[in-house]
Amino acid sequence: MGIVLVHRPGALKAKIAKGDTVMIRRGKEKGKRGTVKAVFPRSGFATVEGLNVVKRHTKQGVGGAKSAGIYEKEAPLPISALQFVCAKCGAPSRVKYKLAPDGKKQRICGRCAEVAAEPAKGR
Ligand SMILES: [Zn+2]
Repeated sequence: MGIVLVHRPGALKAKIAKGDTVMIRRGKEKGKRGTVKAVFPRSGFATVEGLNVVKRHTKQGVGGAKSAGIYEKEAPLPISALQFVCAKCGAPSRVKYKLAPDGKKQRICGRCAEVAAEPAKGR
C-alpha cells in the first residue's frame, strides 16, 4: 500500500483563465455563472467572483493590525467543476484551440468558433 497520486501538480493545463465567464457544474452553486477572479493551476482550483462565498470570522490582530469581524470571501472551486461560457453565444461550451495566422494559439468556442479573450496575465 502506498500513496495514490491523483495527478501530478502542475500537470493540468487549465482551459479557463482569469476574466472568463464560467458556469458551476456541481456543488451547491450548480448552474450559477460568474467571472473567474483567479486561477491556481498548480492546485487545480480557481476563484469565481461572487460565487462559493464563505464567511470568515476574523479576530482582531495584534495591535489592531486587523479589525475583528465577519468577512465574505470567495473560496476556491475545483477547475473541473467549472465550465467555460462563451461570451458570444452565451452557452456553456467546450474550449477548442486554433492557430492564429501569427502562429499563436487561440482559444475558441466549441459551439460558435468565436475566439475567446486572451487569458489575462497574472492574478
Ligand atoms: Zn460561442
